[in-house]
Amino acid sequence: MQETFYIKVYGCQMNVYDAKNIIGTMERHGFVRTIDPKSADILILYTCNIRENAARKVFSAIGMLKSNRTKVVAIGGCVAQAEKEEIFKKSKIVNIVFGPHVYHKLPDYIHLILNGEQSKIIDVSIEKFNKFKETQDKNNNVSFSEFVTIQEGCDNFCSYCVVPYTRGREYSRAAKDIILDIKRLIANGTKEIILLGQNVNSYNGEAAYINIGASSNWKLDRLLYEIAGIDGIKRLRYTTSHPKDMTVDLMMAHAKITVLAPFAHVPIQSGSDRILKLMNRGYTAIEYLDKLKTFQTVCPSMQFSSDFIVGFPTETLEDFGATVQIANVVKYTVSYAFKYSRRDSTLASKMDGQIPEHEKESRLEVLQNSLSQHQISRNNSLIGQVQWVLFDKCGKRKNQYIGKNAYMQSVVVECETNLIGEFKDILIESAGMNSVYGKVL
Ligand code: SF4
Repeated sequence: MQETFYIKVYGCQMNVYDAKNIIGTMERHGFVRTIDPKSADILILYTCNIRENAARKVFSAIGMLKSNRTKVVAIGGCVAQAEKEEIFKKSKIVNIVFGPHVYHKLPDYIHLILNGEQSKIIDVSIEKFNKFKETQDKNNNVSFSEFVTIQEGCDNFCSYCVVPYTRGREYSRAAKDIILDIKRLIANGTKEIILLGQNVNSYNGEAAYINIGASSNWKLDRLLYEIAGIDGIKRLRYTTSHPKDMTVDLMMAHAKITVLAPFAHVPIQSGSDRILKLMNRGYTAIEYLDKLKTFQTVCPSMQFSSDFIVGFPTETLEDFGATVQIANVVKYTVSYAFKYSRRDSTLASKMDGQIPEHEKESRLEVLQNSLSQHQISRNNSLIGQVQWVLFDKCGKRKNQYIGKNAYMQSVVVECETNLIGEFKDILIESAGMNSVYGKVL
């Protein structure tokens, strides 16, 4: 009888991408996926360690998901990489701990447990390209919108972030491998490609063709031009960018490539230069604003989203005020604001001046109110305009569909034909805080 597996994924788009490869790898090795954890022989939890809550959730989830049928519990991803053997102490029923670089080996490890050859296995080694080699060209389960990892890890060492410790130092996949991946996806029906990297705009991959010359690594803009030339691609995005790597060449690519969305996620995190320095972000607020200004000069239709961290150690009300001011100057289309979350092994976790939780909460509320106002006015400005929307899910009501325009705004329509996976021109008729509403033209 074939063994069944259930997978639960936490965290960012890169984890979603990794999980899809894990599913493909498991299925190629004869395991059968189930969406009911109680009927699974194997439980796989693929984890995120960015916020403390996410890590805690994993351990409480094991208790809820396991059943009499469970034979193997595997914890993978960033929590596994960060906590290593500690995981076995925190949960006795975990059999396998695997880091984000070795998921291609998971079926072998599961066989060792099932065959009784081992009871506990840990592999948190950092193997840079092997997982891509093992999974490339092998996943048949293709969607209309696909993530493709082009770069992984990070050398920036922002003082609050665990990524350099969990995903390792920065490396880029070879351009030719990425292009082969994308050609296969497009040939199988994918319409939208989202390039992923922890620091995606510092992409520096081996060139596509060996005869291009010795110093021929490609930057992100070069890669984007090449991908945009693939027949059948309808929309191209990338995330997440670092402001310091936002080059004029990359800005120009937005102006010249029609399938590239005129939209970029450029996280500022704080508007205070003092806090930015403590965060080790490598730019000042003015430098950041200048970049966005240049971007809009080069490509006038550009809009931006950002991440914000509120209540970083020692943040004063004046520092916080500078953050709100930045939000009011840029008027982001979409934004994500979080309370600072202390993570072990980071410099910021050891800093004096940790801000009390209630103070973080009240600052977060103030910032979110401000961000919402800009979001509402961006949404309102779409009324009367036609937006090109890719629909990716059903709404709560019958015949209701929800999709995204180029600026990641949610667009809701009613339609009697199924729109999932379709691009449509939509006339926007009304707007709310989180969505705009329209009709199919
Ligand atoms: S650039 Fe992003 S991924 Fe890298 S350390 Fe900073 S926050 Fe983390």
